[in-house]
Amino acid sequence: MWLDHYRVLLCDLDGCLVLGDRPTPGARELIAYAGDRLFILSNNSTDTPESLSIRLARIGLVVPPNHLILAGATAVQHLAGIAPATPIAIYGSRAIVDYAVKLGLRLDDEHPHHVLLARDVRFSYARLGRIVAQIMRGASLVVSNLDLTHPGAGGSSVVETGALLAAIQACLPGLNYLPIGKPSSVMYEALLRRLAISVDELLAIGDNPATDGEGARRLGIRCVLVGPRDGMDYSGLGDMLSGKRLLRDSGPAGGPFATLIRG
Ligand SMILES: [Mg+2]
Repeated sequence: MWLDHYRVLLCDLDGCLVLGDRPTPGARELIAYAGDRLFILSNNSTDTPESLSIRLARIGLVVPPNHLILAGATAVQHLAGIAPATPIAIYGSRAIVDYAVKLGLRLDDEHPHHVLLARDVRFSYARLGRIVAQIMRGASLVVSNLDLTHPGAGGSSVVETGALLAAIQACLPGLNYLPIGKPSSVMYEALLRRLAISVDELLAIGDNPATDGEGARRLGIRCVLVGPRDGMDYSGLGDMLSGKRLLRDSGPAGGPFATLIRG
């Protein structure tokens, strides 16, 4: 199989392996084929690797926590790495807040040195006002991911962290912030360091040219786009596994070569 060429497959989650709370066609087959060569690289900022692993197992997708690289958890790891025990305000899920405490970060809404914005389903007028005040008092902003939405079940859109960031930017034009999720290189670089492999040994699989494609392009990682929309390399994971490539003018149809997204 053409995928045998790659030591590690970095697959996106939403829109690739799951839609809402259902596996996509071919998701189980990809996991069964790739085994421990598969890592999920996702802009998910709601779950920790542990909580997501449990949730995926319930729908038959068995991926261990250390194979789940998630934007929210990576943002917490990044902050804990650069400034252990630093005071931080977190706008995100309970799981992300608990994870930060577990890694030694100190929660402080009064004088945080950093504000971490993740997918915060409790976002409100009051919370927006608090974030703006914290940043104006000097806190730096770290944003788990810039996605405005992600695909949900039945063609729905799930509101994402980027939409919340847009509200903050409306109040603070010219705001500086550090993005963690794709297309930022932070998650890719963390995994490359951990696995000690070169970019040539990786294949990225995604459904979003702006995040999956662009993130891979920045590091020179080959990327294939999969899904029912226009401009994809494969119509789904099943066709990707069997090498049944859609006709594109950028490479050999049906061949073993992934499209390198060019900017
Ligand atoms: Mg996706």
